[in-house]
Order: sequence, then C-alpha cells, then structure tokens
Amino acid sequence: MTYKILRRALCSSSYKKRPQICIVGAGPAGFYAAMHITKKIDSVNIDILEKLPVPFGLIRYGVAPDHPEVKNVINQFTKVAQQPNVNFYGNVTLGKDINLQQLRQHYDAVLLTYGAEEDKTLGIENEDATNVIAARNFVGWYNGLPSDKDLKIDLSGKTAAILGQGNVALDVARILLTPIDELKKTDITEHALAVLSESKLKEIYLVGRRGPLQVAFTIKELREQLKLKNCRTIWNENDFVNVEAVVPDLPRPRKRLTELMLKSLKEKQTVTDDSNISYFKPVFFRSPHKFLVDAKKNLTGIELVCNKLVGENLEQQKCVPTGEKEVLDCDLAFRSIGYKSVKADNDLALNHGFVENNNGIVEDTHPNLAKLYVAGWLGTGPVGVILHTMGNAFQVAKVMCEKLSSMDEQNRGGFEEIKKVISEKNANIIDWNGWEKIDQYEKEQGKLRGKPREKICSVEEMLEIAKK
Ligand code: FAD
Ligand code: NAP
Repeated sequence: MTYKILRRALCSSSYKKRPQICIVGAGPAGFYAAMHITKKIDSVNIDILEKLPVPFGLIRYGVAPDHPEVKNVINQFTKVAQQPNVNFYGNVTLGKDINLQQLRQHYDAVLLTYGAEEDKTLGIENEDATNVIAARNFVGWYNGLPSDKDLKIDLSGKTAAILGQGNVALDVARILLTPIDELKKTDITEHALAVLSESKLKEIYLVGRRGPLQVAFTIKELREQLKLKNCRTIWNENDFVNVEAVVPDLPRPRKRLTELMLKSLKEKQTVTDDSNISYFKPVFFRSPHKFLVDAKKNLTGIELVCNKLVGENLEQQKCVPTGEKEVLDCDLAFRSIGYKSVKADNDLALNHGFVENNNGIVEDTHPNLAKLYVAGWLGTGPVGVILHTMGNAFQVAKVMCEKLSSMDEQNRGGFEEIKKVISEKNANIIDWNGWEKIDQYEKEQGKLRGKPREKICSVEEMLEIAKK
C-alpha cells in the first residue's frame, strides 16, 4: 500500500491525465480485462468496484472446493490488484451505492463484468416446494456465499434428483457423493460439512431432457464422477440405442466423452445391498413437468415427460414430448439448468439474460457520457469455463484500449468524485489491504482445522476484520 501511494505521488502530475477506467465486478472477467489494459497502456488508472467485501467472484463462490488447482488463477489476479495503478473497492454495489450514470460521468470508460447472479427457473408446478433447491444456492452454501449460508436443505431422504446435465449438476452430485473425510481437507464451509456428514442419500439421479450425445458436462468432470470411492454409476442401456454407431463421426471432444459413457455402460455395475455404496444414475430423454408434493408441500417426486429428439445435426437436436409420462420418486431435487444475469441498473437493457453488445461495446444514446463496455458472463451469457471468460475479457479489453488511445485527453475525476457519492450511503469501502486481512484470517482459521481456509460467511464479520 505504501509503495502504491509513493508511486502515485511521484507520478501525480501525469496521474491526473491518465484515462480513468472503472470495472464493475471483481470476478475473472474484471481481473483479466484489467490485466490486459495495464499491459497495453502504461498510464491508466483502473478502479475495480465489487459488491462483496472480497474479490474473485465465482472462483471463490462457484468453483467446487475439491478443485483447488482451478483457484490458482487467484495468484495472477492478486498480482494485477497489487499494481500501483489498479485499485480494488469492495462492498460497493452498482445499483445500490452508485448508479451507472454517475460512473459514466466520472470515468473515461466503464466496463461491466458483474456476472450472472440468478438461476433460470423451470416455471412448473410446485417449484417452490420444500426441498426443491436451486443448484446455485447449494453451491453458494457449500462455498460460503453470505447470502446462501442459511439455506435449508434436508438430506435425511434416500433419493435426490438433479435436473440438468451440465458441469454445475456434476459438481452438485460429486459434493453429495464424495466421502466426507475427503471433503474435510478442502475449503468447504464447516456448516456444509456438518450437514453433509449426516446425509442419508443413497442414490442420485441426473436427469437430462435430451440424450447422451447432447450432455453439457465435460469429460474431465465425468471421469472424476466415475472414479468416486464407494459410488457406482448405473446407466440405462435403452438410452444408448444407436449411440455407438454414430461415435466415429462425432467431433473430437464429444467423441471422447461419448466413448467414456459407453465404456462405463459396458462395465455394467449393479445395485447391491451394501450400505456403504451409493449410486449415481444418469437418465436421459426426460423433462420435468411437475413437482409432486404431500399435504405439507414436501417434495415426494417429480412427474417427468418422456422426449424424443428431432433435427439433423446430432448435437443441436431438440427434444419434443412423446406424450408418455412417468414419476421419479425422490426426497430432494436440485434445479441445475443454468444461470442468468440481473439488471443492476435501470439504464441497462437485458435480453435473454445478458447485456447485448457488439464486441463488448454496449450501444446506447448517451454520447456525452463515458463509453460503456461489457465482458464475461454478463456479456456472453452464463456459459463457458474460466478460459473462455478470459478470452472474451481480453478481446473486450483490446477494443477498449483501441478506443482509449484515439480518445481526446480527458480529465475526469474517477474514484475521487465517486467516493463522495458512495460515502453518503456506505462508509465501509474495503480496499485490497482490507481483503488481505480477511484472507490472512481465513487461512489462519483454516489451519486450525487442517483446511486451506475457513471462509467467513458474514459480510458484517468481513467488514470488522478488514477494518482492524
Ligand atoms: P463472476 O465470476 O460471477 O464475477 C462477477 C463479480 O461481480 C462477482 O464478484 C460479483 O460479486 C460481482 N457483482 C455482482 N453484482 C454486482 C454489482 N451490482 N455491483 C458490483 N459487483 C457486482 N470454470 C472453470 O474453468 N472451472 C471450474 O471448475 C468452474 N466451476 C464453476 C462452478 C460453478 C458453480 C459455476 C457457476 C461456474 C464455474 N466455472 C468454472 C465457470 C467460471 O466460474 C466462469 O467462467 C467465470 O466465473 C465467469 O466470470 P465473470 O467475471 O463473468 O463472473
Ligand atoms: P449448462 O452447461 O448450460 O447446462 C445446463 C443444463 O441444463 C443442460 O443439460 C441443459 O440441457 C439443461 N437445461 C436447460 N434448460 C432446461 C429446461 N428448461 N429443462 C430441462 N433441462 C434444461 O449450465 P451450467 O451447468 O450451469 O454451467 C454453466 C457454465 O459453467 C458451463 O459452461 C460449464 O461448463 C461451466 N462450469 C464448469 C465447471 C468445470 O469446469 N468443472 C464447473 C461448473 C460449471 P440442454 O442442453 O438440453 O439445454
């Protein structure tokens, strides 16, 4: 911090004239964009505003606790944040503490990277029943997201169904089926460990509306699932009719994934009485039609409609109902059919759950305000791994750099001006130094329990520690 202040004082004459850039959202898209811009333009000032007191978005609150290697990107982001011309301002929410127009008045460019914070819903009967849970909330709960820490989940039943066949669905299945002693070594929250250690779940269905050739999960994640200790995978042979015949013509990633499913199918695992074994049961060609409940609105099952596929291109085939229905009895259901972005500010228009843009540029009718850009899941929709998000953020940052280099010299006030507006409503802005205190505290707490970290799950507590 001292170094930062010193550097800034030394460059103060040129600092005033630096383009002032605001990035909203401290997830991968925000950090990768900042990384690219600071590499390409020397004299720039970047302020990253983040709703939570802590950075890293879904790296901290989405990526599964048993995937620590994925979280290593945090080291790169930390280096970005420690540059003298990059500032982190946590606990600042666009749409609450500040609005878009104010940001665009006081910065030379504004980049929105605030992700996709809601989940898609099915819109079917009894979706609000007890024990119908959004995968997004379950993920937030085991990862310590403050807004999800009080999630009510009952794992006393034998059967759960996960609706959707993407990588989030596989994360949920794996966390439910992994032996508790293995989870204990990760940064999973203590409240989740306590509940998971009492789990009575024995079988988990993974329900897809299309077939094995259209699954959205990827090979690495399936392989991990198939290798879980004390867990057997039971496929339904009827779901794989004609699949083997088309394998040679499939594009490579899909081919390898399908070959792995076929190999696992041929291993023919069977259900036994062994109480130590749990079962993972993917089922295909089934769409949820209605959640079934008892008189107290507790979940008892799901009515599924059976589908067939239509269309030429195998991977793009659509499902249509056959008219047949069946019931899957279960005690717990997770909806895992994707995320969607929210409209954080009235000046924004969302279409199909993301902000429309042209190469990252958001077209609008305010020529006197700073140009507006969008990157990451907010601009692409909620798809893609960190690598895709990185590619998109770099591409948008490149466009921003081109525009900034051809812009007349500006002298906008940046955070100095914004701070006046924010502090009227919020006296608790957390800087990088504050995050480092939280980080250190969490690591110390984790060490006491033999874990890499024990996350603080309350915003109030985070603020207290950061302000010490
Ligand atoms: P986010 O990571 O969501 O970051 C957005 C940031 O904006 C957050 O910090 C949020 O708090 C902040 N914000 C939100 N609203 C506001 C506001 N109004 N004002 C200010 N700030 C705001 N990819 C992999 O490669 N490997 C994995 O193992 C993996 N696991 C995943 C697990 C899950 C459950 C999910 C959902 C995704 C996973 N991904 C994984 C994908 C990866 O997380 C995304 O590609 C990436 O996080 C998208 O980055 P982003 O910056 O667009 O959004
Ligand atoms: P996703 O990959 O888009 O998968 C969504 C699943 O829900 C698909 O199977 C989809 O089926 C199904 N679905 C959508 N609408 C439905 C409906 N109305 N009824 C029934 N099923 C429906 O989304 P995600 O799992 O949330 O993952 C988001 C992104 O994060 C993905 O790019 C994923 O790879 C990434 N991620 C990566 C990791 C990792 O690398 N380990 C972990 C988690 C997430 P259709 O195909 O038929 O639409």
